[in-house]
Amino acid sequence: MSEHHPAGDLRSSFHLQDCLQCSQCTERCPSARHGGVRPDEVVSAVLEDREPQGIWDCLLCHRCLEVCPSDIDIVMLMTHLRHRSALDGVAPDRFLRTGSILVKEGRGFPSNPRVQKQREELGLSPLVDSDRAMRELGKIISRTRFAYER
Ligand code: SF4
Ligand code: SF4
Repeated sequence: MSEHHPAGDLRSSFHLQDCLQCSQCTERCPSARHGGVRPDEVVSAVLEDREPQGIWDCLLCHRCLEVCPSDIDIVMLMTHLRHRSALDGVAPDRFLRTGSILVKEGRGFPSNPRVQKQREELGLSPLVDSDRAMRELGKIISRTRFAYER
């Protein structure tokens, strides 16, 4: 496991020892249904100090959390695991690209004439850049050590 979030920390922070391995989380998981992440296996992997698979396929939809009889916050666990992976430089390119756009533009997608035109056609307000929002975003990035580059 990573130096950034040792497995022992995650096990106790998320009381993973309470997992019953009932697989209700995975049965309700839309990502697992399509061959993506299996939350019960992610919990097992952390408990056994193995590298969890599929964390970037999680949709952060909270369904697993709704059904877990042990109230294990799998969504926040996934978020921690992703953060750790990003710090280790193994985040998928598509996430890094979005992160890079976020840092530069203050939003998760680029503002260009095509986007502006489509927004206009949909009756949405034009995108505007905000110095204040960018300053606040800069603080969040620095405090969270947001990692978006290899
Ligand atoms: S939050 Fe992630 S792991 Fe949980 S049900 Fe949704 S996709 Fe699956
Ligand atoms: S629903 Fe909760 S207790 Fe059951 S396998 Fe998933 S994490 Fe473990």
